[in-house]
Amino acid sequence: MNVLVVNCGSSSVKYSLFRMPAGEGGAAEVRASGIVERIGLEPGRIRHRAVCAAGDSGPAEAGGRTDERDVAAPDHEAALALMINALSRGRLAVIAGPADIQAVGHRVVHGAEQFTGSVRVTGEVIRALKEFSALAPLHNPPNLVGIRAAQRLMPAAAHVAVFDTAFHQTLPPRAFLYALPYDLYAEHRIRRYGFHGTSHRYVTEAAAGVLGLPLGRTNLITCHLGNGCSAAAVEGGKSVDTSMGLTPLEGLVMGTRSGDLDPAVVFHLVRAQGMTPDEVDDLLNRRSGLLGVSGVASDMRDVMAAAAAGDRRAGLALDIFCYRLRKYIGAYTAVLGRVDGLVFTGGIGENSAEIRERTCCGLQPLGYVLDAALNAAPSRAPRDVAAPGSRSRILVIPTDEELLIARDTARLAAAAGA
Ligand code: ADP
Repeated sequence: MNVLVVNCGSSSVKYSLFRMPAGEGGAAEVRASGIVERIGLEPGRIRHRAVCAAGDSGPAEAGGRTDERDVAAPDHEAALALMINALSRGRLAVIAGPADIQAVGHRVVHGAEQFTGSVRVTGEVIRALKEFSALAPLHNPPNLVGIRAAQRLMPAAAHVAVFDTAFHQTLPPRAFLYALPYDLYAEHRIRRYGFHGTSHRYVTEAAAGVLGLPLGRTNLITCHLGNGCSAAAVEGGKSVDTSMGLTPLEGLVMGTRSGDLDPAVVFHLVRAQGMTPDEVDDLLNRRSGLLGVSGVASDMRDVMAAAAAGDRRAGLALDIFCYRLRKYIGAYTAVLGRVDGLVFTGGIGENSAEIRERTCCGLQPLGYVLDAALNAAPSRAPRDVAAPGSRSRILVIPTDEELLIARDTARLAAAAGA
């Protein structure tokens, strides 16, 4: 079965085409992937990579072949049509046409309380997503536009929605409720939802495998550290707490987001600094975090390079980043009691031995002891980097959200007889 995974943002569409194994146990294979960017701007741009082009007789070149060019992408439907063209026509085609795509998995940011797992897209699902758009005004509307355009362009395919929030729907009320007047939850559904659920779920399942434990008995603290960052406490394979809240702004320090702060800072900015709510929103979401503190960059590699070159504020940004994460690990250790594995994932978590080391430094009394050599050894494989005597294992697990979306999509499509 060919499964297309689509992630529609406000001005971009990312995609990956998978060939999924027929039965259990086979390996999924990425056939092509790419991105259409600058949707609505002139010109737009497509970058398409074919891993194994149709008609190839020999093995694909390492990393595949890539084509990049300017395009006219006035809206999401045009962007998806460009994607289908790239997949099915020309030098880097991997399928004969849209009819070769049996199922499409859509990444959807907010599934609110209704969606505790992935679902086939129906009229009812579309209506619910429209309703949740108020909870995720930046993300759900483009997700929805993408789903409808993809349904028009690939009417024969099964369409599946996979939610960033779904994995965290197992949080108990004490973890998801804010200490606000209860009516705000009961009437307006203001609560912690949590995000990055696809990644936390992927690494949870992978970590249970690495640890050789049944998923239902695996306790983990999973740290997804990318441009956005979040941590989750996972008990018996289920999320029981997570650092992001009503929106992805809460919790850890991120590339451009502040994470936790005293809500009164907002009133102060409005009253004393005369900022509008939109300006505060922009400040906290796009001008804070690593970028705001360092004044250098939102990208961790740039901040680390500046710190290494002696930039004081870049050093401070790193310090705050690791300190905040360490506090969450301590808190979630208290939540879980027994922690089988502390998991690092995302671009920073997977690649930066230094951030892992700085974060774990001081956590030895809680049972987290890194092995310096294992931690520093570069690898792309899921691995245990804890010292032999460490009470909890410390795992580095490359995440693969697209693969998880493809698996859910293939499963639901197969169940529906696609
Ligand atoms: P996204 O959240 O957009 O999916 P990624 O998970 O790819 O992003 O993470 C991007 C972040 O990972 C950037 O801050 C980048 O600097 C950081 N990163 C990637 N490689 C390294 C590395 N070797 N050392 C430190 N940070 C890294």
